Amino acid sequence: MTTPSLSKAALHDLTVAELVQALSSKQVSAVELASHFLDRSAAHSGLGAYVDVRRDITIAQAQNSDARIASGNAGALEGVPVAHKDIFVTKDFVTTAGSRMLNGYRSPFDATVVSKLGAGVAGGTPGAGMVTLGKLNCDEFAMGSSNENSAVAPVDSGAPAPVRNPWNTQRIPGGSSGGSAVAVAARMTPAATGTDTGGSIRQPASFCGITGIKPTYGRASRYGMVAFASSLDQAGPMARTAEDCALLLSAMCGPDTDRDSTSLDVAAENFTAGLQGSVEGLRIGVPKEFFGEGLADDVRNTVNGALQQYEKLGAKLVPISLPRTELSIPVYYIIAPAEASSNLSRFDGVKFGHRAAHFTDLADMYKKTRSEGFGDEVKRRIMIGTYVLSHGYYDAYYLQAQKIRRMIADDFQNAFKDCDVIAGPVAPTVAWKLGEKSDDPVANYLADIFTLPGSLAGLPGMSLPVGFASCAADKGMPIGMQLIGNYFQEARLLNVAHRFQQATDFHAARATGF
Ligand code: GLN
Repeated sequence: MTTPSLSKAALHDLTVAELVQALSSKQVSAVELASHFLDRSAAHSGLGAYVDVRRDITIAQAQNSDARIASGNAGALEGVPVAHKDIFVTKDFVTTAGSRMLNGYRSPFDATVVSKLGAGVAGGTPGAGMVTLGKLNCDEFAMGSSNENSAVAPVDSGAPAPVRNPWNTQRIPGGSSGGSAVAVAARMTPAATGTDTGGSIRQPASFCGITGIKPTYGRASRYGMVAFASSLDQAGPMARTAEDCALLLSAMCGPDTDRDSTSLDVAAENFTAGLQGSVEGLRIGVPKEFFGEGLADDVRNTVNGALQQYEKLGAKLVPISLPRTELSIPVYYIIAPAEASSNLSRFDGVKFGHRAAHFTDLADMYKKTRSEGFGDEVKRRIMIGTYVLSHGYYDAYYLQAQKIRRMIADDFQNAFKDCDVIAGPVAPTVAWKLGEKSDDPVANYLADIFTLPGSLAGLPGMSLPVGFASCAADKGMPIGMQLIGNYFQEARLLNVAHRFQQATDFHAARATGF
């Protein structure tokens, strides 16, 4: 039996770490928690964060969690609710990847990350025991920076609708993991999964005032993640605090070499172990290229303020240079579409997903299926990708981009000779208005400038909330700071972010009305 010592109103303010305590001390049951967050999600469905919710499935999972808690077999995060970006395949919920191509699609299996956070991999090690609240909206096949590219109708909306930023519902939440960021920011789930190919965990986390981390490429399995650009795609957690991200990331990482050929054979790590470490003497590299022209004053001042806070905590700021930062945009927008054009060839109307209703022959079936199934941004990238991979252009574009990608990675190794972590803005601006850049793909691409370099190098990166815009036009919109670490330095990043969050309370701020 539970001791009713926690008021309902307080439940959604608790962090994952606090919920673990509340559940294990039986102050609340997994079923009560699940139903509380489902009710909140329904009450705020106007934000468009969820694309699939199934109360019966969630409650059944929560009952299993309560049984495991009662019998002393609880997983590390047993009974804590989580929601997944709709790019992870799930057998109990639909998997759409934000695309008409997969509208209503049901996978026969769960992605490794979903299993690891949930009930475990069948026949393998038990999972962390989290309870799935549902699936979260995202840009189609994770292509986008604003979540305006989703072709899927959010729960209760009946038609595709934008995901809204709770800090200002006329603004984008960021993307592509926009639904994940909004669900966490509006307290519709204590934590969510996201994926980051070129910034899709860090940028929406920054725009919605939450914390998110993308681990070193290869640390979290890509098995069951609908592929966009395979050499870049990585899963990671999004939550309110670095401590919560550490708890989820500890459960998400680990080798899956039989099922993902790029999974690294590196053991899972307990990322909470080093959270308390001091940042005294920490050398924070500040890349000059991240503070140049085009950076909004509010972002510059707020990130500088956060750097000063780190100095107060004993860290040292070291000026560094990442000279090929600007090149990361053309390089990424060649490599990512090239890989996407290959990955998306599987959507041919034969194996799964959408198939055109009327066609004359096989070629016509392919053509109509793909014309109807893919949205504009996806088609744009398939065309760019096919072009840069075509005979005659391969050397000029694709090969050249691969060479520069290596040089970008080398720039980071050079920088890490002088510093332990790198810090700077996540994006040049705060979240922009819905529709503001939707007709201008290049304007969207340019906004990725600070997240792309780390992605191309395969480095771990995170975003943590460090303040709010004060200028009249953007007043009150959250601003994140990015931390980039060397390979396998996730624990360090989380520690550095955690120390900031112990000294400040930006991560605890909440949007009015949510
Ligand atoms: N905004 C970038 C893009 O559109 C990154 C997306 C992502 O990380 N999934 O490709």
